[in-house]
Amino acid sequence: MNIEQLYQIYKQYPSIQTDTRKLKQGDIFFALKGTNFNGNEFAEKALEQGAVFAVVDEEKYFTQPDKMLLAGDALVVLQNLALHHRKQLGIPFIAITGTNGKTTTKELVNAALSSNYKTYATVGNLNNHIGVPLTILSIKEDVEIAVIEMGANHQREIAAYCEVALPTHGIITNIGKAHLEGFGGEEGVKKAKGELYDYLRAHNGTVFVCNDYEYLVEMSKGIPHIVTYGQKEADFTGHPVADKAFLEVAVTGDSQVGSIPTHLVGAYNFPNVMAAVTVASYFKVPSEKIAPAIAAYVPSNNRSQIIEQGSNTIIMDAYNANPSSMKAALDNFAGLQAPKKVLLLGAMMELGPDSVKEHQTLVDNLLKHHWEAVVLVGGDFAKVNHPYIFLSDALEAKKWLEAQQFTNTFLLIKGSRSTGMERVI
Ligand code: ATP
Ligand code: MG
Repeated sequence: MNIEQLYQIYKQYPSIQTDTRKLKQGDIFFALKGTNFNGNEFAEKALEQGAVFAVVDEEKYFTQPDKMLLAGDALVVLQNLALHHRKQLGIPFIAITGTNGKTTTKELVNAALSSNYKTYATVGNLNNHIGVPLTILSIKEDVEIAVIEMGANHQREIAAYCEVALPTHGIITNIGKAHLEGFGGEEGVKKAKGELYDYLRAHNGTVFVCNDYEYLVEMSKGIPHIVTYGQKEADFTGHPVADKAFLEVAVTGDSQVGSIPTHLVGAYNFPNVMAAVTVASYFKVPSEKIAPAIAAYVPSNNRSQIIEQGSNTIIMDAYNANPSSMKAALDNFAGLQAPKKVLLLGAMMELGPDSVKEHQTLVDNLLKHHWEAVVLVGGDFAKVNHPYIFLSDALEAKKWLEAQQFTNTFLLIKGSRSTGMERVI
């Protein structure tokens, strides 16, 4: 069976599943491998549960030749099928990568575009070698614009995703410190994220570039179509308003978008909002539709949520943490007007040999401000010098917090996903 024949099956049954626990009648099952599982072992079961077809890559599990394809690598078949589907869809694909703010930017861009177009965007954080092809294979024929999040923690990953998604437009949100281990330092991060620009430069693409980041301006040189945004001298300009807990963005210049009250926390979301304004304006979404669409977006999954608890205001940002997002969140928090401020910070992960140093830098920055209390939780916080409270995990932090009985206090709770800081409240 070749990819065209498999595509004909997909056209008739356009729903892919890789997990038998979520399988529905009529799905096509792909037997993928993870560190702790081998999808091949579930292929037979998938057919029993109503899958119409299964792609396996181990001969031993190729038990029903009329309903199965035996491939060299099921993941490669999934990616090829996604590419085949992508080629049939003659629509703009906007790829979004960067160190921080990919999902937020993706959601905002999608919110703004969907006020005027039928769009499809990556669901949640499905931004890896499996998520990208699955996202593409979820795009129906009536979709007019696709928004695809691409994550990466090593070189050549974004380049590979581009070869499957064939993006026509792209955004690098920013380049910062994260996954330094896999990338081989900060220059490595730049090179890896830059693969999106490289692809678009070579394929007559369009990029949306935040002019406030000199390195992005530098990196984007030579790309055929560049549309800029930022606080000054850009095609689309604006600025963050006031030091309220929720960010408001005033869009200036010739644009008729006006002021946008958001449900996002912190001025670091300013470029994310401007990216959405810029993409929507570029695709000619009527300006009066843009602000309401962005204002209506409420983040979920611990991505910068504000929780009012009694007289306290909690900024919950326990979805991820790396040196640049920590710095952005802390700078923002330090700037807020509040009588008392408390920090509960979980450790940062995957930082490689610089990890202790990065934690020390963060703690040194904390010393510049006055805090009512600071609690550092787990990981390499155990190895740095500081005058603060150290606790081993989020549950200890929860006990500590319950014992304090704060009132009229702002609390920032942030940490790497694996520290589970959301358990504190
Ligand atoms: P992931 O790599 O996990 O997919 P992401 O890039 O999709 O993350 P988001 O989920 O949008 O990022 O945001 C995660 C966190 O990053 C936010 O809660 C916030 O702390 C921080 N963040 C978001 N936007 C920015 C930004 N423009 N600059 C710095 N930090 C940011
Ligand atoms: Mg994400």
